[in-house]
Amino acid sequence: MDHEEIRAVSDILRRGLEEYGLAGRVSPRAVQDLSIYCQMLLDKNREMNLTAITDPVDAANLHMLDCAALLNCADFEHKSLIDVGTGAGFPGMVLKILVPSLDVTLLDSLNKRLDWLAEVAGALELTGVHTVHGRAEEAGLDRLLRERFDFATARAVADLRVLSELCLPFVKVGGRFLAMKSTGSDEEIEGARAAIQTLGGRVERSFDYTIPGTDVIHRVVVVEKTAPTPTNYPRRWAKIQKAPL
Ligand code: SAM
Repeated sequence: MDHEEIRAVSDILRRGLEEYGLAGRVSPRAVQDLSIYCQMLLDKNREMNLTAITDPVDAANLHMLDCAALLNCADFEHKSLIDVGTGAGFPGMVLKILVPSLDVTLLDSLNKRLDWLAEVAGALELTGVHTVHGRAEEAGLDRLLRERFDFATARAVADLRVLSELCLPFVKVGGRFLAMKSTGSDEEIEGARAAIQTLGGRVERSFDYTIPGTDVIHRVVVVEKTAPTPTNYPRRWAKIQKAPL
């Protein structure tokens, strides 16, 4: 990204956060760090497959501001969060940059992306960023990760029925699983209700938002963890796929 593009991205982020009503909650340093992250993403994307988006303005809108919308769904200050299938850090890294007191675990089955995310955390001098290389359905059985987090997030990873089995085991009772979805997800949500209940959760609400600077409307499905997940979940991947809850 050249100077002009960096300035354009910073302006878009600043204005977008204002539009979300978040200006007072996010420091100027965080906006700057988010611009640097955007720049690092597009630079690295030339050699490693991180995102299909190559335009800086689109990356600022459709990645950074899309993920920033979560700040209007929950209070992340001094909380812990696991981002399941984080890829290039969405939404986990965006949330960490915007809320530095958040303790973030970025989980993915692709190690190369996690190595790059650790580089980003180093460059931005962020502490409290952990990476876990592995499959969610295996990591969810690990005592050190199971029911340890205030929040689990996921964007563009799987259908909500499957995703709930991957994500809810990580969440403490009383915590929330935040699934980033499109507004066309009514049926998907209905189809996942029974699975969510089996896994110890309850759909609390859906939160629709328009990404500033675009006419794209997205949705966050907020799932409350109301009871411990039965110990037989998550199951093996073949089983989850073959017989979704
Ligand atoms: N969340 C990011 C985003 O919104 O851009 C990445 C989405 S990408 C389409 C899906 C990511 O989930 C990939 O990085 C993939 O490696 C990871 N993934 C898919 N299934 C997974 C699993 N069972 N356990 C861990 N990671 C998984």
